[in-house]
Amino acid sequence: MKNQPIFVQSKRKYLFLADQKGLTILNPIIEQAIINNDSFEVVFLGKQKEFLHTDIAHWLSQQKMGTYLYVCLPWKELHPIKLKIEEVGFSEEEYQWFGHGDKSKNVFCCRCHEITEVANGEVEINCQYCHLLLEVSDHYSALRHAYLGYVAKL
Ligand SMILES: [Zn+2]
Repeated sequence: MKNQPIFVQSKRKYLFLADQKGLTILNPIIEQAIINNDSFEVVFLGKQKEFLHTDIAHWLSQQKMGTYLYVCLPWKELHPIKLKIEEVGFSEEEYQWFGHGDKSKNVFCCRCHEITEVANGEVEINCQYCHLLLEVSDHYSALRHAYLGYVAKL
């Protein structure tokens, strides 16, 4: 992931998928597409989330070759959307993604196997399901999309 959206020239069409804050971040790129008189579509993800993931997958799957996608969403919404995008067949060279807001992380409880979402930087948390005190490890499980939480020493 890049820190700043970069305009990729000479694409057939540009797609933008963002919420309100995301559109602000992507605005320089949208402006560039307007200046170049490029084709583009913006899908706005509002508070209601009425544009469901299946709709997003459908929208993306209908695009032609040479389409380039920009995604900018809150961190916690980004991951499931990225999975959809990749499922549809967009490769790393065909889209750029950006997260904004609080970067949280998931912690996998070693006792009840549920996942608790915590702010980045937390070292000890209580599992929100079984309330066990957990130490947040650096051990990331790609399978669970979570960091493993161990029993904190008393
Ligand atoms: Zn637990």
